[in-house]
Amino acid sequence: MSKGIPKRNEDYSLWYNELVKKADLAENSPVRGCMVIKPYGYSIWEKMQAALDKMFKDTGHTNAYFPLFIPKSFLSKEAAHVEGFAKECAVVTHYRLKNAEDGSGVIVDPEAKLEEELIVRPTSETVIWSTYKNWIQSYRDLPLLVNQWANVVRWEMRTRLFLRTTEFLWQEGHTAHATRQEAIQETEQMLDVYAQFAEEFMAMPVVKGIKTPSERFAGAEETYCIEALMQDGKALQAGTSHFLGQNFAKAFDVTFANKEGKLDHVWGTSWGVSTRLMGALIMAHSDDEGLVLPPKLAPIQVVIVPIYKGEDSYAPIDEKAQEIRKALLAKGISVKYDNRDTHKPGFKFAEYELKGVPVRLALGLNDLANNTIEIARRDTKTKEVFALDGNITGKVEELLADIQHNIYQRALGFRAENTTKVDTYEEFKQLLDSKGGFIAAHWDETAETEAKIKEETKATIRCIPLDAEAEEGRCMVTGKPSKRRVLFARAY
Ligand code: AMP
Repeated sequence: MSKGIPKRNEDYSLWYNELVKKADLAENSPVRGCMVIKPYGYSIWEKMQAALDKMFKDTGHTNAYFPLFIPKSFLSKEAAHVEGFAKECAVVTHYRLKNAEDGSGVIVDPEAKLEEELIVRPTSETVIWSTYKNWIQSYRDLPLLVNQWANVVRWEMRTRLFLRTTEFLWQEGHTAHATRQEAIQETEQMLDVYAQFAEEFMAMPVVKGIKTPSERFAGAEETYCIEALMQDGKALQAGTSHFLGQNFAKAFDVTFANKEGKLDHVWGTSWGVSTRLMGALIMAHSDDEGLVLPPKLAPIQVVIVPIYKGEDSYAPIDEKAQEIRKALLAKGISVKYDNRDTHKPGFKFAEYELKGVPVRLALGLNDLANNTIEIARRDTKTKEVFALDGNITGKVEELLADIQHNIYQRALGFRAENTTKVDTYEEFKQLLDSKGGFIAAHWDETAETEAKIKEETKATIRCIPLDAEAEEGRCMVTGKPSKRRVLFARAY
């Protein structure tokens, strides 16, 4: 044990849970499955939001906000949608409490029953498409490119901090188009945006692919996804982009007059990523000492720790440290100068290691005398001595870029080592139990075989990769012909 966190190879699951708590990211709330996101965790989420929000705006989308409550009748308008979400809906039935007559406390006032029960949104297609009916009349109103940042509720049975919670924060894009082709292009574009975000900001390689019909979003014609591999060899679905066809337009009667003046139903898409990405980020890079954060998403990119004994030695160190802090700030680098006199340097070092601060600068009297500063990087846990009158900001900028690159390469290497082509079901089962990872195998494209594999091995088809090469083969279970390999894994 170090810092009270178990090692990854002892108990990966416990390591994750403890790390989330010890690094001050989040904690469980009084309501099962819900969580409190603590300031440090929320700062990372804000950085994710800012980067994604910019990417959405750069691709022509604007933000709006739709209500938390959805009339129950809306949900049932799209048959597949209600079928998919009914099992995990929170329902509001009353709007008032009152004191119990026997003095036993507060009870629901039976007289305050809602005429129509309300659903707490599990996703907003229904309320949004009911609104789009009023917003869209002609081809001139299209495309409609809207995103919202919100919270949603899905009554999940098995929850885990960030990865699967009952209430979660997310963004949901909902777009409307005049043609099928344009809607498909939008679906694919947003998948690319997610993949780019995952790789450039989270330093997390992802596989872009299509879900099988049984894993498809309820109400979609096609679900695209990005899938990432975690360090324990399990996969995580990190984002989805859905081509909705005309399903919701038909359910909510959203039509438009095309250029020829003929009425047609609108084509739709929806796409979302959630606070699950926080879990992905933690699981993709962190180690037994704590978080390892990519510099682009780290709330604190550099910490400066002064090492001093007493006021006299503090003054000259403080002066130099402040100078460095200002120079880094001027370059847009987020710096924390931790000059607390309540904690020893060793304690601070351990704390910033736990919190994944990418670069640490330490400056003491000896350093001043030798004209040096100690620079440590979190990803490789290496230290070097740098000239105090050298280009420290330049050095730090270089290091931040290098760390961002290095942890991406490390994750990419890990994925390559843990992606295996398999041809027999025996081999498949053995591999799942020995090392896991992504397994590329042939499948006969039937839901029955997919379900059998899931039942027998707990592995699911993560996706049919978009770049899967055509390859004649035989399904590893039934021996029926298959045209390409699909990607299997046990998943979160
Ligand atoms: P969906 O609307 O089901 O396509 O999900 C949209 C996004 O939310 C996906 O990126 C999912 O990974 C994520 N997500 C789904 N359910 C949960 C949950 N219970 N907790 C956190 N994230 C979730």
